[in-house]
Amino acid sequence: MKREADRMGFKPTCREVHRLSSEGLDRELSLVERVRMRVHLMVCQACRNFTGQLNLIRRAVRHDGPPVGAEAEADPGRERP
Ligand SMILES: [Zn+2]
Repeated sequence: MKREADRMGFKPTCREVHRLSSEGLDRELSLVERVRMRVHLMVCQACRNFTGQLNLIRRAVRHDGPPVGAEAEADPGRERP
């Protein structure tokens, strides 16, 4: 008796991983989707490279600017009379 999970393909295909990783740029992936991707990435070097590059793009696209107002508190060595 075969398990349903096997038939449906518990392991995602390269194709699905590619799709999920690019969808992940636009929306938050569900836990299941991320786990499936991870499982696949553990065994598939090609997809590791693929998602690695996507992550680089993702990081570049995101606006992670430096923290604003970091200097506001700076007041070195000033003592009250
Ligand atoms: Zn793959």
